[in-house]
Amino acid sequence: MTNSETYVIVGASLAGAKAAEELREQGFDGRVVLIGAEPERPYERPPLSKDYLRGESERAKAYVHDEGFYDDHDIELLADTNAIGLDARNRELTLSDARTQGFDKLLIATGAEPRRISVPGTDLDGIHYLRTLADCDALRERLDAGGRVAVVGAGWIGSEVAASARQRGLEVTLIDPLSLPNERIFGPEIGTFYRDAHASHGVELALGEGVEGFEGDGHVRGVRTSTGRVVECDFAVVGVGVVPRIALAQGAGLEIDNGIVVTERLETSAPGVFAAGDVANAWHPFFEQRIRVEHWANALNQGPAAARSMLGQGGAYDRIPYFFSDQYDVGMEYSGYATSWDEVVFRGDRDGGEFIAFWLKDSRVVAGMNVNVWDVNEHVQALIRSRREVDAAELAGSGTSLEELAAVASRGSQAT
Ligand SMILES: Cc1cc2nc3c(=O)[nH]c(=O)nc-3n(C[C@H](O)[C@H](O)[C@H](O)COP(=O)(O)OP(=O)(O)OC[C@H]3O[C@@H](n4cnc5c(N)ncnc54)[C@H](O)[C@@H]3O)c2cc1C
Repeated sequence: MTNSETYVIVGASLAGAKAAEELREQGFDGRVVLIGAEPERPYERPPLSKDYLRGESERAKAYVHDEGFYDDHDIELLADTNAIGLDARNRELTLSDARTQGFDKLLIATGAEPRRISVPGTDLDGIHYLRTLADCDALRERLDAGGRVAVVGAGWIGSEVAASARQRGLEVTLIDPLSLPNERIFGPEIGTFYRDAHASHGVELALGEGVEGFEGDGHVRGVRTSTGRVVECDFAVVGVGVVPRIALAQGAGLEIDNGIVVTERLETSAPGVFAAGDVANAWHPFFEQRIRVEHWANALNQGPAAARSMLGQGGAYDRIPYFFSDQYDVGMEYSGYATSWDEVVFRGDRDGGEFIAFWLKDSRVVAGMNVNVWDVNEHVQALIRSRREVDAAELAGSGTSLEELAAVASRGSQAT
């Protein structure tokens, strides 16, 4: 059946590109317009703090699709184009080149941008943020020159950049006001594990030290911390989190609360306008609350889910949040959504760095993380989804396989 409607997607990154692909996969044969502010065709960001940053992988590997994909699928990719205004009632976007673009349905996948640090000296040269390929190319060139780098923020981006810089042989100081990397997400046990991984690879740690300012003579030469000391550096990288890009939606009067508020089918407060990826704060039926997830897998899966909702197909988006990280020789996958827990149970070789950690609340698994252990993530997710009480000793021991524990828990949850 021929469809004369126009579906527009703003944000040509992972969520937007996968949504466009899904529209065609599902047989939509109307117009698909994919609008992106960046000059590049859609690409994935994880390599930008890992292999691509270290110069170990080709640029081409980062792209979501081959160059010919968009033409081949009759997807109109408008790169280097910003959507600067949205009239949701009259279904029209204003673009940065002053053109307008009408739509029947709209997906906003404008993602997130680095949170800026607000201390004296941020106008000095040599202070890097990392979000785009262009940011990465500039940083990669800087790594090529070697020297000393101060990394501000021991969250994901900061930790991965610190690891990559160290792997490239630079002198690295990692600075964070918390006493352990990613302490808020993981708590002390796993935070300690990552702290030790950095320390054993020769990163100088300035943990428990806030940043008071950057010092230099036009170019950054040091980072002054809350202890009064100055961490000397040739350049700095700041990774202190991201903020959702809500300007377009906010200007149109859409409901905003920590991102664009969407239903479980990813529809915003304006009918026919959807949001997905880092920018969307979506009602999650499993957790019975809104969750905004800033991770690759969410963009990968939520973009297509939003596309199906635009077509009036598909149901609620209820995937368990998942992310991965690679630092040095430590690869991990984390599933779940844990804001509080009673205990962390370890299974496997914790000292040898090959283990699974489970976060338990009221004896139920609320999150799990496999470190250098693979092909277990679906079992971890099954345990979370079952909501069944587990025996911590059984979870920690090797007597029963994880597959069996997950199967028992799933059967139990189906029976109730
Ligand atoms: C360096 C780095 C490493 C990462 N590593 C990992 C990892 O190891 N594991 C993991 O799970 N996640 C990782 N992530 C997170 C992951 O990349 C993001 O969750 C994902 O990119 C989100 O995709 P998105 O499509 O929602 O938004 P984004 O990737 O932020 O893309 C949004 C796009 O919209 C465009 N845009 C915004 N506003 C407009 C507008 N008004 N008009 C037109 N275009 C607009 C932007 O320019 C951008 O291209 C990493 C992120 C970074 C930056």
